[in-house]
Amino acid sequence: MELLCPVCHEVLTREDRRAVCIHGHSFDYARSGYLNLQISQRTDQGDNKLMVNARTAFLHSGAYAFLKEELTRLSQKYSPEVLADLGCGEGYYTSSLCAQRKYGFDLSKDALIYASRHDHSTRYILASIFHLPLADHCADLALTCFAPPALSEVERILKDNGHYIFVSPGPDHLFEMKSLLYEKPYKNVVSPLGTTMSLKEEYTIEQIFTADREQLQNLFRMTPYAYRTSLRATQKLEDIQTVKITAQFILRIYQKEKQ
Ligand SMILES: [Zn+2]
Repeated sequence: MELLCPVCHEVLTREDRRAVCIHGHSFDYARSGYLNLQISQRTDQGDNKLMVNARTAFLHSGAYAFLKEELTRLSQKYSPEVLADLGCGEGYYTSSLCAQRKYGFDLSKDALIYASRHDHSTRYILASIFHLPLADHCADLALTCFAPPALSEVERILKDNGHYIFVSPGPDHLFEMKSLLYEKPYKNVVSPLGTTMSLKEEYTIEQIFTADREQLQNLFRMTPYAYRTSLRATQKLEDIQTVKITAQFILRIYQKEKQ
């Protein structure tokens, strides 16, 4: 197993409903199936249940299925032995990726409960993407989809010649929804990643979908806008019956050169 003990960094092995290291540190598998390797006692981290439910409902509408298909295609192209999805959420993308062994990391228990119940092809781990309980140079492919790029950890866990896929919102992503909420909506800024890995490919994929009232509400609740928008603007959104919205993603593929 590539997983390490978050206390002493020795290899973890599975024993029934827990994972243990040679020093006797022991970690439990939750009833739903994910492994809790979070040593901090904080419980307020990660997306809350409301956000997870909204995102799950929205993703099930299929509006982002074209991104899922593209990520599946890329995983087939690189056919990794070990794949790590950093910030996997409820496993919507992770579940369809191809690899001999897949790990999904997230800090949201609610997201991981959903993920581990619905996808048995991935080992879901509650842990910070900035302190990954993974061995050095163990992964062939790492993915970050709508989460911050934890670059030093990505560089550490990737094998030489391993690949990293970073997905972020394009400038026009959800612009129509922002236009409904704000007087002066801004476009997303795409900034370069400060990494020693080489950028091999960068491209944009885009689709326009029609959102009904419920879909629009779910979309709003799963984004950070829900927390920084005035009540009046939020109510305006409730009056919309259907609206066309752009989903636009930028995919960047990096390779870790042999040291
Ligand atoms: Zn240990």
